[in-house]
Amino acid sequence: MTALGQPVRIIVHHTVTAEDADPLDINRMHKAKFGGIGYHALVYRAAGGDWVVGDGRDDEQLGAHTKGMNTGSLGVAIAGNYQYSPPSMGALGMVIGQCLSWCLTYDIDPANIYPHNAVGRTATVCPGMTPIDTIRAAVAAGIAAVRPTVHV
Ligand SMILES: [Zn+2]
Repeated sequence: MTALGQPVRIIVHHTVTAEDADPLDINRMHKAKFGGIGYHALVYRAAGGDWVVGDGRDDEQLGAHTKGMNTGSLGVAIAGNYQYSPPSMGALGMVIGQCLSWCLTYDIDPANIYPHNAVGRTATVCPGMTPIDTIRAAVAAGIAAVRPTVHV
């Protein structure tokens, strides 16, 4: 597996599958073309109906989710198609949690969370109406709440 390099940005996707497509389903879909699931994390609707985050590729491995922009990019996808309506609050909460975790772990500025259609070389509507500004703002607020305040 090729190495990701230092993570410097997060790219958000939708899968255009059913909302309950889990990492194994996506792994099967991506097997032939990408050698397995191309995202580092997948937000999907679990059997009980709750939205959960599932593991994709290891964070250290180069993803296969944004043509021309995979190096340094962690990819998270939301199962479903959000071209005509945004993801639910439950799904959004899990995306925000995953992005917050990555930003804290790898010291990524939440300004560097992007929708797929803003980066890369493929013309796409991905991730549809997923509200990236809301995700950025929530992650920034989370970082401010978690990091100890430094008094000088
Ligand atoms: Zn995408």
